[in-house]
Amino acid sequence: MTPLSLYNSLTRSAELFVPADPADVRVYSCGPTVYHYAHIGNLRAYLFTDTLGRVLTWKGYGLTHIINITDVGHLTSDADAGDDKMEAAARASGRDIWAVADHYTQAFKADLKALNIRDPARFPLATDHIDAMIAFGQSIADKHCYRLPDGLYFDTSTVPDYGRLAGHRDEGPAEGRIDTVAGKRHAADFAIWRTSAPGENRQMEWDSPWGRGAPGWHLECSVMSRQYLGPHFDIHTGGIDHREIHHPNEIAQNQAIGCSADTGATLWMHNNFIVDRTGKMSKSSGEFLTLPTLIERGFHPHAYRLMCLQAHYRSELEFSWDNLAAAQTRLKRLVQTVAALRARGEGKGAASASPYAERLDAALSDDLNTPRALPVLDELLADKKVSPADRLAALADFDAVLGLGLSTLSREDLRVRPKGATIDEGGIAVRLAERREARAAKDFPRSDAIRDELAAAGVEVMDGDPLGWDWKL
Ligand code: AMP
Ligand code: ZN
Repeated sequence: MTPLSLYNSLTRSAELFVPADPADVRVYSCGPTVYHYAHIGNLRAYLFTDTLGRVLTWKGYGLTHIINITDVGHLTSDADAGDDKMEAAARASGRDIWAVADHYTQAFKADLKALNIRDPARFPLATDHIDAMIAFGQSIADKHCYRLPDGLYFDTSTVPDYGRLAGHRDEGPAEGRIDTVAGKRHAADFAIWRTSAPGENRQMEWDSPWGRGAPGWHLECSVMSRQYLGPHFDIHTGGIDHREIHHPNEIAQNQAIGCSADTGATLWMHNNFIVDRTGKMSKSSGEFLTLPTLIERGFHPHAYRLMCLQAHYRSELEFSWDNLAAAQTRLKRLVQTVAALRARGEGKGAASASPYAERLDAALSDDLNTPRALPVLDELLADKKVSPADRLAALADFDAVLGLGLSTLSREDLRVRPKGATIDEGGIAVRLAERREARAAKDFPRSDAIRDELAAAGVEVMDGDPLGWDWKL
């Protein structure tokens, strides 16, 4: 096997991966804030960690993966300003905050399932760890924190090299430089505990030594990673935005509790963003695409998975419907090829599939280079010197890491029907047969008229579809 090399945002370089215990690689991924549905950008973050986990498993490592659920404490700005996202969402919808959190948590888990993302060992909830967060705050308060009327704040000058992850020295992250809370000693200082203002009507609040209130957002990840993975674990992941504020603050807390230069994790890995033509996709803007929207438009979730695998996780990826359609076509071709191989049954081959497995390993070991791995799969499937049975066995091995479900997906699975569509399949078949006759008779105006008539009814005629389908909605 090729040694695994992974890019570490801390050192800004690819490093040879050396886990503390190869039988139990410990990975923590910052989870979603459950005040809204996850958008497809958020889901890219978990497709990335899923690929990471699958590669680790494929290469023989044991794995404990944690994804937390942020159901309290995340303000509308990452830098301790604005409203609590959960409280605001509950107020706006007039619903109970716990019901809001539960609803979006379930929706998030359903999205992960649809994308064939493996379950982590646990999905711990921030609200289940309030006592542990208070205890953490108490143990760092004397040496590292100070009180303000609205809470307990972390003094970022009390830890070595604050902001190193973000690439800022001593001055803290850019957004933190805007001093948003009166009385902070340094602009980058952040809340460990936010005391409720008199008369403030919060649905979620708890008693603490710093008054009734709620924890600061960064605290939960230091507490839960430590609780489930220990004071030092192997890999911490998140989207690239977390490199600027959230993760530097987690590191500061980890240093405070460990009283050393230790950042808590050996490797800090970040996926780049999904963007659309209007810019970054964000939940707070309210305008974003969800996985169910893609499905409603007739796309299989694995087409989105493939679209993400076609880009390196550290590259920005522009979403467009054309990109997604191209990925869906590629997925159909793969499914078609696999079906054809299966139909071929037993045949003799002159060559082995193992050189392909070695190339797959080399690509993935190079900082999870999935865009380089995918063509290896295409070449393997097309290599007539390898017997169909050996190609199918190698395919199953490849798919354990790509997670496209190629051994089980059928042609019919890929025919995603828009929700609530009522279609008269018999009627469509009759019109298509008439169109074929017209084309055979070179009566193109009539053939085009039938196509346009079907299009007006929401049915797209597909000439030359790789799966041989003649229409879609
Ligand atoms: P949130 O629910 O906002 O806390 O975000 C959940 C995860 O999605 C975090 O790791 C974010 O960094 C990541 N993320 C947010 N927006 C995007 C995006 N447009 N593309 C990729 N990842 C994102
Ligand atoms: Zn986090």
